Amino acid sequence: MKPAEEIEVSAREISCDGGGGASSHPRIFLNMGDKEFIDCPYCGRRFVLKEGPDVATAH
Ligand SMILES: [Zn+2]
Repeated sequence: MKPAEEIEVSAREISCDGGGGASSHPRIFLNMGDKEFIDCPYCGRRFVLKEGPDVATAH
């Protein structure tokens, strides 16, 4: 198997339709729950939660 493509997302709940092409599939919704990534069971792409902008901490 080829390595799964990683896609950065900003929310734990995402939808995937395979992005078109050979790996496209009916749109489904995925929820990471308490994880920070989830693999789409249809196309194998991995959705990774993107870290938000760093909060500037006081010096
Ligand atoms: Zn997919």
